[in-house]
Amino acid sequence: MKTLWVIFLKLLIDLNSAIGPFFNFEKDRLIVQIHKTLKGFIFKESLKKALIKKFNVSDIIIHFYSKNRKFFLEIISNYQLPQKEEVVNYLNFFISNQIYKNLTNTFTQRRIFYITKESRIPLIGSIYFGIIDRGTNLLQIRPITGCILNCPFCSVDEGPRSKTRWVDYIIEPNYLLEEIKKVIEFKKVNDIEIHLDGQGEPLTYPYLIDLIKNLSKNVNIKVISMQTNGILLNKETILKLKKAGLNRINLSLNSLDPKEAIFLSGIENYSLKNILKKIDIIKNSGMELLIAPVIIPGINEDQIEPIIKLILKKQIKSNWPVFGFQNYISYRYGRRMKAKPKSFSQFNKELRDLEKKYDVKLLLSPKDFNIYKIKSIKNPIKKGEIIDAKIVLPGRTYRNEFEREMLATAKNRLIHVINCNYKVGDIKKIQIFRNKHNINYGKII
Ligand code: SF4
Repeated sequence: MKTLWVIFLKLLIDLNSAIGPFFNFEKDRLIVQIHKTLKGFIFKESLKKALIKKFNVSDIIIHFYSKNRKFFLEIISNYQLPQKEEVVNYLNFFISNQIYKNLTNTFTQRRIFYITKESRIPLIGSIYFGIIDRGTNLLQIRPITGCILNCPFCSVDEGPRSKTRWVDYIIEPNYLLEEIKKVIEFKKVNDIEIHLDGQGEPLTYPYLIDLIKNLSKNVNIKVISMQTNGILLNKETILKLKKAGLNRINLSLNSLDPKEAIFLSGIENYSLKNILKKIDIIKNSGMELLIAPVIIPGINEDQIEPIIKLILKKQIKSNWPVFGFQNYISYRYGRRMKAKPKSFSQFNKELRDLEKKYDVKLLLSPKDFNIYKIKSIKNPIKKGEIIDAKIVLPGRTYRNEFEREMLATAKNRLIHVINCNYKVGDIKKIQIFRNKHNINYGKII
């Protein structure tokens, strides 16, 4: 009997030194932590196929494994293998090209879609991400979705415990900057306010500092402000934000009772003490501050006066009002509390009384922030219109198979398509039933 000898060749690649430090494995996937917010996956099978194709090797076996906190890729073949350097170069290329296709938001653990210029997904038309122009000199900019907190009153049911949000989005910063510039050019004024907010926490956006830095170079932008729950703020970030050009932070502060603050944040390790420290750091940084509590009837109404007293005591100097109390509203796709929402006339009356008592501004109007009406970018999509639209992304809302949303595009605008059971790439006839402020909603007909 003849014995067959098969010689296996092995190539061992230390991924940490070849590619970078942020790796881990999970079953058949290589996990790459790109930023604090994003982790990407490379599937073993797709890497194997790519290596076979690239190096024209007829078959290989690949393994991921870790040893002494280092991560390795082992390639085994009974044919000749390429040079290690060539494989490392290709791995770098492959990972940087593929990684953005399979991303997870580390904070929410949801799939997150990376929106680039090449994707041809417009940045106007959706309430979830991009640019919202409500016909004033203020533009709402939403670079990312997803939140760290699980506030029980959240109007958009955000956070890791969300029951209706099933995907997130993030926009490539250069694409966002380009599109903002176009909208500002159209508006033809030189006192634009950029307000960074969103369905989630803007501070999870990994390119935030650079985005602000670049925005502040635009001579037509007068103010850059940002909404935040403050969790990700620290002294270093506050100083970086200030240096980049952020003018004002609108900070959530819903209770001065530590236990109630935890309850209202929806996370056990919420530290009121830390948030209060951050208020002092913001104040000392010279950045403007607006305290923005949500007041829920029967829950934290008793916190209005303690918050006013504390903030007045801190003597925060500002060109704008320092308080922005908000009346709790119960939304269809938001989280609802066992509380009867208060009418706005009642809420405003109570604030008016407190204004007199504390001699402080509590009732706000756009004028207080130098916001005024100007022409809005035109919406090429008309209400009632039936258009052919291409489905480009899953929507965020998923309640059940009947209440599933997709996002479609037509005429360079996004459209929220409700109750949609079609897939990405399909072209369907959609009737628009709402299009206020360029935010379009349609249904399949
Ligand atoms: S911080 Fe804002 S977005 Fe996040 S869960 Fe609370 S209310 Fe919702």
